Amino acid sequence: TRQVIENAKANDKDINAFVVFDEENAIKQAQEIDKAGIDPDNVLSGIPVAMKDNMLTKGVLTSAGSKMLSNFKPIIDGTAVEKMKAAGTINIGKTNMDEFAMGSSTVTSFHGKTKNPWNLEKVPGGSSGGAAAAVAAGDVLVALGSDTGGSIRQPASFNGVVGMKPTYGRVSRWGLIAFASSFDQIGPLTRTVKDNAVALNAISGKDEHDLTSSDKEVPDFTANIDKGVKGMKIALPKEYFGDGVDQDVKDAIMKAADKYREMGATVEEVSLPNSKYGVAAYYIIAPSEASSNLQRFDGIRYGYRSESAKNLEELYVKSRSEGFGDEVKRRIMIGTYALSAGFFDAYFKKAAEIRTLIINDFKKVFKDYDVILTPTAPTTAFGLDDEKDPVTMYMNDVLTIPVNMAGLPGMSVPAGFSNGLPIGMQLIGKPFDEATLYQAAYAFE
Ligand code: GLN
Repeated sequence: TRQVIENAKANDKDINAFVVFDEENAIKQAQEIDKAGIDPDNVLSGIPVAMKDNMLTKGVLTSAGSKMLSNFKPIIDGTAVEKMKAAGTINIGKTNMDEFAMGSSTVTSFHGKTKNPWNLEKVPGGSSGGAAAAVAAGDVLVALGSDTGGSIRQPASFNGVVGMKPTYGRVSRWGLIAFASSFDQIGPLTRTVKDNAVALNAISGKDEHDLTSSDKEVPDFTANIDKGVKGMKIALPKEYFGDGVDQDVKDAIMKAADKYREMGATVEEVSLPNSKYGVAAYYIIAPSEASSNLQRFDGIRYGYRSESAKNLEELYVKSRSEGFGDEVKRRIMIGTYALSAGFFDAYFKKAAEIRTLIINDFKKVFKDYDVILTPTAPTTAFGLDDEKDPVTMYMNDVLTIPVNMAGLPGMSVPAGFSNGLPIGMQLIGKPFDEATLYQAAYAFE
């Protein structure tokens, strides 16, 4: 464990994947495992892992990449963190992220930018950019991330690692700092498909602290992982190969489709006509939920408090003005506007209707197919200093957002390179059918 932390610290001089290392607890835990002896039946025993900085870790900084929480040390572990610990893994620290998970590049973090280990001039993606970079750099074998509109899958794609966003409700959100509660899910980023399946098994299941967590039975995700794809029906939605997607990315996914055909799967073109409205609807619903969730950061209860306020109202206004970054403020304003009495019907209600259309599109395709195959992101990692206006940045998630809209499981799997940068393919599954995704991903890997 000491060596793992030393190695990660050395890598981090260039990459900045970590917000903070938790050497003390990690070593203590490792010593306890040493004393008790490694459990030979538990493959997770003693394995080094890392947690995204929006997951509560007892006594350890949990800032969600924000100045607002730059002094916040929770008094509890979140459920996923606790389950990873109970499974015997050793958390070596917290990974960098876009502020409050709002972004696709990790450049909005209060703790500075994270760099892509494949090319230090490129972003690692986001918002779980630190988690993906930490896995790609070989710091840890598993990092937990969170995905609201693509934040596990897009950084997995940019870093050439495996990232799973489970079905909504598969993993408890207790102890995950909420961004958009009807989309948020925690999931693992790993080097290999099998590692990912093992990690998801460790964190899945019903939790009395999260009423949206599902009591659906959690199968052993590795049980059928090596059964291949013979007879599997795979759908290629034509809308996910449009003009905005780079040719190299399209080519890599088409090559993957051919490989699946060679392995005995049927691969056919389908249509998901309403997916193109996903980004527009998401940027009403997600900011609306965020504007509500982020009300709790008021400078009173915990987190950053402005020093210069002279009365209560000023305390609220100044703490929030000074504590939140630009992108977070933008989302709070959009959300507050969309939820206000005069505009609710025009924006939020319309967006909710689009969400239903997107769900129905997926349902229709899944009547005939087992898995949907698409690119994860339209491009490979872009430059750290690329000036992107917010809307261009939002379009980065056009291929991942519909999956969150429908609450489906989606994973990104490495599928090739372009100019030395990884390309990811996305596999989308039926609700609670992560096992089939792992099976398809394992056959490809
Ligand atoms: N990039 C998207 C956003 O900015 C999704 C982020 C996420 O999944 N947390 O909202």
